[in-house]
Amino acid sequence: MVDEQLRKRGIGDERVLAAMLEIPREEFVPIESRVLSYADDPVPIGFGQTISQPYMTALMAQSLALKGTETILDVGAGSGYGAAVLGVLGARVISIELVPALAQFAMRNLQRTGRAGNVTVMVGDGSIGYADAAPYDAITVGAGAPETPAGLIGQLRDSGRLVIPVGTRKDQSLMIITKKKGATDSRAVTQCRFVPLRGAEGWR
Ligand code: SAH
Repeated sequence: MVDEQLRKRGIGDERVLAAMLEIPREEFVPIESRVLSYADDPVPIGFGQTISQPYMTALMAQSLALKGTETILDVGAGSGYGAAVLGVLGARVISIELVPALAQFAMRNLQRTGRAGNVTVMVGDGSIGYADAAPYDAITVGAGAPETPAGLIGQLRDSGRLVIPVGTRKDQSLMIITKKKGATDSRAVTQCRFVPLRGAEGWR
């Protein structure tokens, strides 16, 4: 996975590659789909949701340019895999999930793999962020939004980065938004296809 899907496609951040080698992805995939753990695709995790394609998880993590000191908000815990990878790359991760059963799935996966020490899973609507632990040095959203939620930018520390797919329900651009002295700078990294972000600032 790391050599064929990540390095060859230009993921060059060695910390990200090491984190993806370290986290056992099969522990975050439902038992009936384990043979697909290292496939180059998203994998269903129930409730119409998916664990993201490994390349997307790596690209989003790389886009945040983490050094190890950061407090990170992960919107859409899903399987907990992305949160586990971020837990290796930053200091502390708050991962928020709308579907209570998936939050439990994520939590169990993180605990079983010994990754729950600096990763906390919350149940709630992450489209409005999670104010109690703000501000964040980095925010990642694993579901596609109609627009960038203003509240997420509000919870970002100055010089912080937000990575989020923005577009239609079916197709999005993966955006990196950097906050600088209250203003924001946005750039699109690639086209992508994520499940819809729901909640107050997501799709109805
Ligand atoms: N990063 C995850 C994959 C996320 S799939 C992983 O590595 O497995 C997207 C997840 O976002 C789904 O679990 C979905 O239930 C969740 N989601 C959608 N809208 C949400 C919202 N408003 N707040 C929190 N989670 C949300």
